[in-house]
Amino acid sequence: MGRRPAGRAAVTMSHIETSQTTVGGLSSAEAAARLAAHGANTTAVPPPRSIARRARRQLADPLVALLLAAGAVTAVLRDLPDTLIIVLVVAVNTTIGVIQEVRADAAVAALNQLAAPVARVVRDGRDQIVPAADLVPGDHVRLEAGDIVPADLELTEAQRTAFDESSLTGESVPMHRQVADIASGGTVLISGRAAGTALRTGADSALGRIADLVANTRSGPTPLQRRLVALGRMLGVTAVAVSALVFFLGMLAGRPVAQMAITAVSLVVAAVPESLPAVVTLALALGARRMARIRAIPRRLHAVETLGSVTVIASDKTGTLTENRMMVQQAVTANGARYTISGTGYVPDGTVTGPDGATAIPADLVELARSAALCNDASLLAPDDERAQWAAAGDPMEAALLTFAARCDLDPNAERATTPRVAEQPFEQARRQMTTAHELPDGGYLLVRKGAPEYILETDNDAVLLAAAAQLAADGLRVLAVATATTRGRPDPASPPPMRPAGLVGIGDPLRATAQQTATAFERAGVRLLLITGDHPGTAAAIGARLGILAAGDAVVSGDRGPLTDADITRVRVFARTQPEQKLDIIAALQRRGEVVAMTGDGVNDAPALRHADIGVAMGDGTEVARQAADLVLVDDNLGTVVAAIGEGRRIYDNIRRFLRYALAGGVAELLVMLAGPFLGMPLALLPAQLLWINLLTHGVPGVALGAEPTEADVLQRPPRSPQESVLGAGLLRGVLTGAGLLAGVTLTAGMLAGQLCLPWQSVMFLVLGLAQLGVALAVRATAVSGTARNWSLIAAVAVCALLQVAGVAAAPLRGLLGTEPLTAATILACTAVAAVPGLLLRVAGQRRVARPSQ
Ligand code: ADP
Ligand code: MG
Repeated sequence: MGRRPAGRAAVTMSHIETSQTTVGGLSSAEAAARLAAHGANTTAVPPPRSIARRARRQLADPLVALLLAAGAVTAVLRDLPDTLIIVLVVAVNTTIGVIQEVRADAAVAALNQLAAPVARVVRDGRDQIVPAADLVPGDHVRLEAGDIVPADLELTEAQRTAFDESSLTGESVPMHRQVADIASGGTVLISGRAAGTALRTGADSALGRIADLVANTRSGPTPLQRRLVALGRMLGVTAVAVSALVFFLGMLAGRPVAQMAITAVSLVVAAVPESLPAVVTLALALGARRMARIRAIPRRLHAVETLGSVTVIASDKTGTLTENRMMVQQAVTANGARYTISGTGYVPDGTVTGPDGATAIPADLVELARSAALCNDASLLAPDDERAQWAAAGDPMEAALLTFAARCDLDPNAERATTPRVAEQPFEQARRQMTTAHELPDGGYLLVRKGAPEYILETDNDAVLLAAAAQLAADGLRVLAVATATTRGRPDPASPPPMRPAGLVGIGDPLRATAQQTATAFERAGVRLLLITGDHPGTAAAIGARLGILAAGDAVVSGDRGPLTDADITRVRVFARTQPEQKLDIIAALQRRGEVVAMTGDGVNDAPALRHADIGVAMGDGTEVARQAADLVLVDDNLGTVVAAIGEGRRIYDNIRRFLRYALAGGVAELLVMLAGPFLGMPLALLPAQLLWINLLTHGVPGVALGAEPTEADVLQRPPRSPQESVLGAGLLRGVLTGAGLLAGVTLTAGMLAGQLCLPWQSVMFLVLGLAQLGVALAVRATAVSGTARNWSLIAAVAVCALLQVAGVAAAPLRGLLGTEPLTAATILACTAVAAVPGLLLRVAGQRRVARPSQ
């Protein structure tokens, strides 16, 4: 399907103001050579960080620095085992951190590629779409309404162009540009058509100076990441305070200062989940990639995160909920006679049935069809090698009018040839109509206007047609009125003489097969679906009812009636005859009520709304400006995809909370054990090396694996979380404390029992605490929909880490390193059984609910 020319002002047949230089464009070989010579048409992108720099950044982390300092101390004290463990911990943490960063960056880079701006060029004599980055000086570039000018162009063709140059000049008045003028890179063609030769590309062009406009996925931390950094800092302070306490308790008990200092440092390192930022970034980036796979491309990580908390989605009708495959189904001639037109799609064959069942085509109907075909910028594409069926080029609605004309036994191309267009007033969204002037074979002129009936017909004179229009609209059809006039002299379409109605056409656009399902799915997920359309209130109401979002008696608000009030916006679900600017009012009113708003759009005029919405959703088929302004691009234009993307967003948030629950419970448990030990006759509950070993096994790989947990079955059957809610909200803090209490409880109990049984109590506590934490990782897993794949990476990570934990007491070399003592097989089994208790309790108590928002 072709692109929708957004402003509908694109004209295919006018010959006004054109100086067409026929260019075959560059050859692809020449283009490649120039690309090599001039470089890519992008602003200088910072080179990717080198591994060494990434590693250095990881090492600069205060926690790691602290640990390295402790390592220096142990080295000086010739405490080889502790030094080794510290080096190991730092090496593993840095490696995991760097790998995750690289993976996250790769995922984001892949997304940028998908949503990158494109340019229409002529190369090898053919029209092609290439990444704007591949543009070279000398390329012949075509521009359609809604395109961002991809480089500085010298115009060779310009038809009623209006450029928005506010990105360069700040001036928002559209500028007209003519042949031989320069269109600067980064400005936007808002209406008309143009073509030009690229003069400068890349950083040399104006585009290079306003890199912002085409900036890819915005970097910078997301709100969640920022909140987590704050949380991390709070944790760090708590851990330092508790460790200081442990230090003094140890001193009081007469332990050596150096040992206690290293213990304190190890405790801080162990208790703070240092992998948190990496886990979050990776979860977001991989989530973004999964979204792209279902053809919803997030343009920044913020979108991935925000999607999960969307509470309202305001959608267009045409294309997103309907198929945008239009067909004229009804026609009403000036005298009020109603005809039914049938056929399939855009195929010219079809039948016309009159009011009395007759299939004759009267002259006034032919006249209506001819006018509709003349005041028209679309064309029909016949089936060929690539296309199996007749298709629309240009506005699908106008193409439907051509098919209608063909079904009335006219040849649209022949009509256009015998009655050529000499002037026009292009379609204007605000006036909802367009007018063309044509030269008749006899030397006179014909004016044709088509548009929304209320804008074209007069209440007094055309009551019959207006009533008929309301009826067609109530059937869910989009209604156009057509009016004509003939003059002797050449008319001005902008101020035409009085015109006579020629009739009405009712155009059907079938709802997508999945549209109702989509509406229900939003409902179940607690997301309110609003319908926003420029169509007649009757048509909008009929579609709203079919979608099930409008009950009998519900009001439809028409944007024509004046400014929308907050009361309207919060009460009403269907908005008709809206102007693009009114979308901004709707977003603002909803946001004032604390809603998180997603809004769809595809035209030039939609860009501001897409930017203001919390999630701007653009169509893959829409204009470049809309796509670049959006947070999410729907490749297949299907609104249903947003439901899935919301599910993905919620899943990611759930998984981040899962990780927090698991990692924080473990960290707090370590603090509790070390703090309680001295009071229970265990002056140094665990040695520094043991703490670091547990930290290494629990925080690293299993933590990352939690980020890949599958979607829970009910993820789309619960309300969105409140955007104000803290990450630790909705019971998570309670869950963390419960988990920590259980972990510390079983560890200390096991230690005391072992002490009484004259077993090596410290090694028992080491084993129990490590294994029990891994048990919690299993306990906070998602309850996946039956039949979907399990997250084997988590199970594998837990299994390997559990084995390494056991090896910590079973393997002699590790014992030397960790200062543990051998345990019998029976003791190890008993420890494993005890360690399973917290995980089992948490799982059975259904504590997994804690990972979810409050209901
Ligand atoms: P939507 O929100 O459904 O996309 P539009 O803004 O495209 O609505 O159209 C609003 C109204 O403008 C239509 O109902 C129709 O009456 C009129 N209209 C749309 N396209 C054209 C056109 N190409 N020529 C004349 N009138 C049009
Ligand atoms: Mg539209």
